Amino acid sequence: QSTIDKIAAGEVVERPSSVVKELVENAIDAGATAVTVEIKDGGISFIRITDNGCGISKEEIPMAFLRHSTSKIKTVEDLLHVTSLGFRGEALSSIAAVSQVELITKPADALTGSRYLIEGSKEVKLEEIGAPNGTTFLVRNLFYNTPARQKFLKSAQTEASYISDFMERLALSRPDISFQFISNNQPKLNTAGNGNLKDVIYRIYGRDIAMNLLEVHTECEFMKVDGFIGKPVISRGNRNFESYFINQRYIKSSLVAKGIEDAYKLHLMQHQYPFTVLHLTMDGTLLDVNVHPSKMELRFSDGKGVYEFLYESLKEALEHKEF
Ligand code: ADP
Ligand code: MG
Repeated sequence: QSTIDKIAAGEVVERPSSVVKELVENAIDAGATAVTVEIKDGGISFIRITDNGCGISKEEIPMAFLRHSTSKIKTVEDLLHVTSLGFRGEALSSIAAVSQVELITKPADALTGSRYLIEGSKEVKLEEIGAPNGTTFLVRNLFYNTPARQKFLKSAQTEASYISDFMERLALSRPDISFQFISNNQPKLNTAGNGNLKDVIYRIYGRDIAMNLLEVHTECEFMKVDGFIGKPVISRGNRNFESYFINQRYIKSSLVAKGIEDAYKLHLMQHQYPFTVLHLTMDGTLLDVNVHPSKMELRFSDGKGVYEFLYESLKEALEHKEF
């Protein structure tokens, strides 16, 4: 196994939650409508991700684990129109470099499924077996061959909480996909995948919050806002309960938060942070999401316009409401 593979792996795979993120994003890119994530020991010893997506044919499996091989970009033009979540073709090779991976997969049109074992970048087995349509990835003993990286891991409980936070944001970002999250055999999250955002909020935050929401739907020439803002009774002392998504991706943007918070403050006449789950939709060419590889920080080409639209539309949405 090459040093280069191990170094590259460090950039994509920092901790168990990065493995979950990459594999779940692959499942979504594969068109899955249901994704189950199971972990043990915070994902350090065991991560299993099962999807009902398109599967991988036996011939394509070894290729998928090569660095910079991706089925998602075929031409230079494709690069300009990337809509899939991952397109660098590094995740599987990076994960396989630092763990023991078992893959069981079957495309719907294949007669049999395949089972593939790869450990520390070394292929161990590729065989045909019976399998349901879709894909299961099992990732065992993360960083078993890179003890230096293992030292940077936090406690199993903390690692589990990172994965749990990620799963919650993911469920909020895609109410149309059913997510299940199980940690140490305990079911932690289960969403229906029926497209109902309020239902997902209820599953994650409980009844008190779900009962105290105002629905928001506004739009202008360049963007659309849909989702929920909490009534003042559930307002907060910090930003931890503000979630924003742009084009179905979780983002952090102080500009977006500020636009919403300022409208909320004007309405409440005191400084409080709202509970929010808001989905913004806008033309991808108006933003730059690749500022950071984790794709959470982003820039708007017209930040002022975005702020003003959010401020005005939230102000209006709150104005005509009785709390
Ligand atoms: P990328 O997602 O950037 O293409 P990855 O290393 O994450 O690169 O995955 C490599 C390839 O493996 C993908 O392009 C895809 O063809 C295939 N693949 C990975 N996970 C799945 C999955 N859950 N279902 C179907 N195909 C998958
Ligand atoms: Mg990927």
